[in-house]
Amino acid sequence: MIDLSKYTKELSKLFFSSENILIICHINPDGDSVGAQLALYHYFKANDKNVSLMAPNNIQEFLKWMDGAGQINVFIKDRKKSRTLIDRADLIVMLDFNQANRLGEAEDSVMASKAKKLIIDHHLDPEDFADLIISDPSKCSTSELVHELICEINGAIFMNKPYAEALYVGIITDTGNFEHGSYSSRTFRIVAELLDSGIDKEKIINLIYNNFSSDRLRLQGFALNQRMVVITELKTAYIYLSKDDLKGYNQMKGDTEGFVNMPLSIKGINFSALFIEKDNFIKLSFRSKGQFPSNEFASIYFSGGGHLNASGGEYTDTLDNTIAYFLKVLKENVWRFEDNV
Ligand code: 5GP
Ligand code: MN
Repeated sequence: MIDLSKYTKELSKLFFSSENILIICHINPDGDSVGAQLALYHYFKANDKNVSLMAPNNIQEFLKWMDGAGQINVFIKDRKKSRTLIDRADLIVMLDFNQANRLGEAEDSVMASKAKKLIIDHHLDPEDFADLIISDPSKCSTSELVHELICEINGAIFMNKPYAEALYVGIITDTGNFEHGSYSSRTFRIVAELLDSGIDKEKIINLIYNNFSSDRLRLQGFALNQRMVVITELKTAYIYLSKDDLKGYNQMKGDTEGFVNMPLSIKGINFSALFIEKDNFIKLSFRSKGQFPSNEFASIYFSGGGHLNASGGEYTDTLDNTIAYFLKVLKENVWRFEDNV
């Protein structure tokens, strides 16, 4: 845990001397990235700051109900407007990522901007591509970190309804509804504040977890039944889905979210991988139990990164070749499972 009070002065100055603030989430934004982004947005709005929002690509369907989500400019959908926002900004805040390539196609424009750049994040080993990096891997979510920083600057708890809803989404999605990740007693104290503020937790849970199409549920069944491979001796299970598989179930963005967690419920399985075939590459997600460093595995072999137990990356080859490569490098790393749960 880091002492956040050391950033109070610098952050206040950065926030309150900037005229045009742009807040950016990471590519394929998850609930934490968008939650942290919208929470910060509502804080700035409450302080009458001029603030805009950008995402490198589309946000997932199940996050679109969030207050402020409609204000997020999607770079690949409107490059002209997004570039204007980037060029106009004097402060760019990047949330929930620590590698410049997580800006996707917006990377060059953002990096070329003269704006001051701030990163707030909870992933390990940040790359140095900003003026100020506030990184605390002990936080369960960037949303939790954003809230603590805002309270430091505010000198008291800051709260309003859309802000509390955004934080709640960030915290529940990054912890799988308090199932995994580095949540702490502090997380529950924050959650208590959020509940006290009057958010409707049932409504939010239903919008996040019980808001899918029947096709999505059938895709989940198909993935488990037809596309999951369990390799007991490697303590590993993986699921692969081709473009045709996804098309057959009318897949929407976000439909495969959470699939990678499912094989970890099998006794003796400590590592899980999900392979999703995209147009020109394979997107991978990894989850592990115990000490297997899924983030190192992702970064060494799949140009990715993430947390110890949750990470992702990509590989440019066919689905079959990617799986073959995965199995090869996994066998080279199987020693890491020793002394594992
Ligand atoms: P998910 O599997 O839910 O997409 O991602 C899990 C974690 O891995 C998240 O913390 C996310 O930021 C990280 N992650 C996923 N894909 C990538 C990637 O391609 N590169 C990096 N650096 N991190 C990733
Ligand atoms: Mn996060």
